[in-house]
Amino acid sequence: SYFESLGLAEPILRALNAKGYAEPTPIQRQAIPALMEGRDLLGIAQTGTGKTAAFSLPSLHRLAKDAYKPKPASCRMLVLSPTRELAAQIAENMSRYAKHLALNVECVFGGVPVGKQSRRLVPGVDVLVATPGRLLDLIDQRALTLRHVEIFVLDEADQMMDLGFIKPLTRIANMLPENRQSLFFSATMPRAIADLTRKFIKDPVKVEV
Ligand code: AMP
Repeated sequence: SYFESLGLAEPILRALNAKGYAEPTPIQRQAIPALMEGRDLLGIAQTGTGKTAAFSLPSLHRLAKDAYKPKPASCRMLVLSPTRELAAQIAENMSRYAKHLALNVECVFGGVPVGKQSRRLVPGVDVLVATPGRLLDLIDQRALTLRHVEIFVLDEADQMMDLGFIKPLTRIANMLPENRQSLFFSATMPRAIADLTRKFIKDPVKVEV
């Protein structure tokens, strides 16, 4: 299959089979090879295009290939999402794709008690999906550090801006290590987002679907 031809790890292919994915969507076809090479990505795409798998499959492949126990109170991959619903959906999909991998996926968002979430971060996690406000709460409580993030995904950037997350986003981005892979997704590309991308991502592959 196409996914096999990309060289994705066998446990990931098994998960895709279980989900019944035979062919890639256009964004997956355009983004996955570049992401497997470690490139940064700027994706102009809406929900429903298959962008979650587009950023998840190559990322999980990279994390699994170089697997190690995450450092306490840290994550190897950070996915930022504007709402709890979207965050939960991404985490659920990523858990499915990672089902046969020894990687753990956690999700944190506001509106629920923070204590249980912070306890789940104690041993460290491979993939953390988060909304910006709750993420900063956890960082301020010293329940999490972003010092070891290898892959950073910003999803729905334009919605983030509309919801007033520009300041939290900038704070979060400034805590990330320089040496990381960054993926940026937005349904539209207004000026403010374009400015933000220049700060956050380096020489990205651009994909528009
Ligand atoms: P997303 O845009 O990531 O929210 O994905 C939209 C929907 O498409 C989700 O329900 C996915 O499970 C599904 N999907 C993603 N990639 C594929 C694929 N290659 N083949 C079939 N369905 C897919």
